[in-house]
Amino acid sequence: MDIHEYQAKEVLARFGVAVPDGALAYSPEQAAYRARELGGERWVVKAQVHAGGRGKAGGVKVCDSDSEIHAASEAMFGMRLVTHQTGPQGKGVYRVYVEGAVPIAREIYLGLVLDRSSQRVMIVASAEGGMEIEEISARKPDSIVRAVVEPAVGLRDFQCRQIAFKLGIEAGMVQQMVRTLQGCYRAFTELDATMVEVNPLVLTEDHRVIALDAKMTLDDNALFRHPQISELRDKSQEDPRESRASDRGLNYVGLDGNIGCIVNGAGLAMATMDTIKLAGGEPANFLDIGGGATPERVAKAFRLVLSDKNVQAILVNIFAGINRCDWVAEGVVQAMRDIEIDLPVIVRLAGTNVEEGQKILAKSGLPIIRAKTLNEAANRAVEAWRNDASHDVTMRAAL
Ligand code: GDP
Ligand code: MN
Repeated sequence: MDIHEYQAKEVLARFGVAVPDGALAYSPEQAAYRARELGGERWVVKAQVHAGGRGKAGGVKVCDSDSEIHAASEAMFGMRLVTHQTGPQGKGVYRVYVEGAVPIAREIYLGLVLDRSSQRVMIVASAEGGMEIEEISARKPDSIVRAVVEPAVGLRDFQCRQIAFKLGIEAGMVQQMVRTLQGCYRAFTELDATMVEVNPLVLTEDHRVIALDAKMTLDDNALFRHPQISELRDKSQEDPRESRASDRGLNYVGLDGNIGCIVNGAGLAMATMDTIKLAGGEPANFLDIGGGATPERVAKAFRLVLSDKNVQAILVNIFAGINRCDWVAEGVVQAMRDIEIDLPVIVRLAGTNVEEGQKILAKSGLPIIRAKTLNEAANRAVEAWRNDASHDVTMRAAL
């Protein structure tokens, strides 16, 4: 789960990281009012969306007066902010954050990630932070500073000092840097984050170290341990297909293709997507319906996959160990009867009670394409989708 910048800053501040004074607003009037409350002469208005790259897309504006704040936030509210991280559909802006402007002397990049190859939390930093970080990491990969944290002892102060020295931070500010790194690391581990990113972490003209931007991703599987963090969820920022799925306990990731997949098990779902690609098709989604797939669950999965208008064929691939093929078959039949599905449905069943499952499908009288192997299933699905697509084209030509 991602959270907003202002939320991540609140969280990091609780762990001792310095952040600018700021306040949230839901309207341009409120934004101007909040700025007056904060005091000062210069403010920054920042669109709150779950994506970076706002600065270049018009989502961050430095303002010198009430009226500028009003105008800047008026332009942001209700717009869909398209940045290089949002995809072409962008993300809706429903909240803005107003902060007192900070006199920046230097911008540093700081990120904490879960590094899969070392199986450790890794700190990544660059002396050249700010908006061009992707470009810098591609152009000058050697300028990136990395440190791996040994979980048994945690992040040590000497490691923080080493990072600070490598970034060329002057001696007087090293202690603040240690405090910032330790704060980010504690927030990361105590809240089960998978990513904490501060870009830029700024050194100010008056020698302070301040997190000017903050991004945080939390591990969904650990959210149950942090009810207060779960409350920070903002569904307006999520892919509606994915939030609907997570509300129903299904593991779904939306993709751009047209063959919908209903599979049990994450590994099998990945293999199914690969096989569809090998057969020349494109999967519309990843969907793991999980172990005990009751007929109701299968029906829910069908509804979810069908809610994606790009789907032109559905491939059900079940390898039943704990599952039972007859239950899944019942689910498929029930779903196809309840929901009017006018798309080709290809079903491949294997494992426990497979004969019973096949019988249920055969007896249903529904136009289900049955396949014996995954390969066959993928080929039939791609074939069916191609026929369906060409049918669309002839229909369109006829109109
Ligand atoms: P992002 O583009 O979504 O990553 O948004 P950021 O919060 O990182 O802001 C983008 C850029 O705006 C930063 O790299 C800064 O250069 C600038 N910026 C943000 N806040 C301030 C501020 O308080 N003072 C000044 N002078 N610049 C700021
Ligand atoms: Mn940023």
